[in-house]
Amino acid sequence: MTDAFSLPPEAAEARLNVAARTLELLRTVPALAPRYAGHPEGLRRLDELAALPPLLKDDLNTALVHLEPRSGTAATWLFQSGGSTGAPKVGYAPTGFYMAAVQDHWQALDRDDVFANAWGAGRMWGAHFLAAALADRAGCRVIALGSITREEYPDWLAFLADRRVTAIGGTPSVLRLWFAHARAAGIGLPALRKVLWLGEAWQPQLEEDLAAVAPQARRWGMFGSTETWVVGTNTPDCPADTFHPLPEQLVHAGPDGLLDFTTLDPEMLNPVLRYRTGDAGELTTCPCGRPGRAMRVLGRRDNVVQVRGLGLHVDELVARAEREPGVSRAQVVITEDGGRATGVDVLLLADPGAAVDAAALRAELLSGTFTLSTAFQHDPERVTVRVAEALVGNDRTGKTASLVVREVQRVTGEAS
Ligand SMILES: [Zn+2]
Repeated sequence: MTDAFSLPPEAAEARLNVAARTLELLRTVPALAPRYAGHPEGLRRLDELAALPPLLKDDLNTALVHLEPRSGTAATWLFQSGGSTGAPKVGYAPTGFYMAAVQDHWQALDRDDVFANAWGAGRMWGAHFLAAALADRAGCRVIALGSITREEYPDWLAFLADRRVTAIGGTPSVLRLWFAHARAAGIGLPALRKVLWLGEAWQPQLEEDLAAVAPQARRWGMFGSTETWVVGTNTPDCPADTFHPLPEQLVHAGPDGLLDFTTLDPEMLNPVLRYRTGDAGELTTCPCGRPGRAMRVLGRRDNVVQVRGLGLHVDELVARAEREPGVSRAQVVITEDGGRATGVDVLLLADPGAAVDAAALRAELLSGTFTLSTAFQHDPERVTVRVAEALVGNDRTGKTASLVVREVQRVTGEAS
């Protein structure tokens, strides 16, 4: 059973005191205490850890509401942790965001870099600040870009080319926008050598973009979540879906193929103990040759899709629409352009003779679904709710899924 962990027992068990303390904390949360009742007090061995129940996002949020952790040495930052519906749920981290340990094991940035930080800033998003902390450790030059509007791309790209930017970072779908606009505007970034990414799976189309815009650039990936922070990293020599876990992050591949994470870092504020992000995966050997166990991430198992870098809980959205009087079924249709969501349509099948107020439902879904209101804040008209004659079926399987993702024909020269 212990070979299902990223660290061998002798390395992991020496640090399990941190997990034991997390377990103690979780036992103080009234809503969670019963689930740990049958388990021994301490935590000394990996098989004891593997026997604990996994924590899901909602469990962790319940625990955080009760624990309200605070850093003893730095400011405590509140970041979005899930919360695809209603108000954002909150995860905590101290200034520094645990990036010193990342820099110790992964030198994606160095002192000579000019780094454009294109992760969106504000709105309690963590990635921008995490990347800034990494750049701080590296001592490089930083251009804090954040997110920009469509019209601004050519000017900013010209600026980045002029500044001889050597590194850029963002979610893969945001990076695709940058490179698509660069291609459309005919702007090259010949000095760019590093593309840092986090938040979504790597998109193979990016290789094509890079070949055209920045032939010297290679990908440098981080894997993590707002709950766990950075779990593992990879380099251009690793497959894009394979990451090397940090020694402070204990990764476990469950018999059901789901990954869970346990922090071994005493400074970690979130009580991460067998925490499941919903990602499926396995432990493997990385072909880059670096020793130790690597984790291969095989994608999400729960019905959460990434919409412009935020998780949208499809089942929750459908359930909410189907509670509306007169609605018999609902379906979410996401339209994508090169991996980027251009619109979300909620299709409704109405009961015969029923009058459904789709406009009122749309207003409710848009304001009540954090991912939709945030991701489409600049173009809310791209979120529609309407009664349809039929839902979109799958011709191959004959099934009608709650989620359909459609690709639109790519329009070149969209920036002009
Ligand atoms: Zn590797």
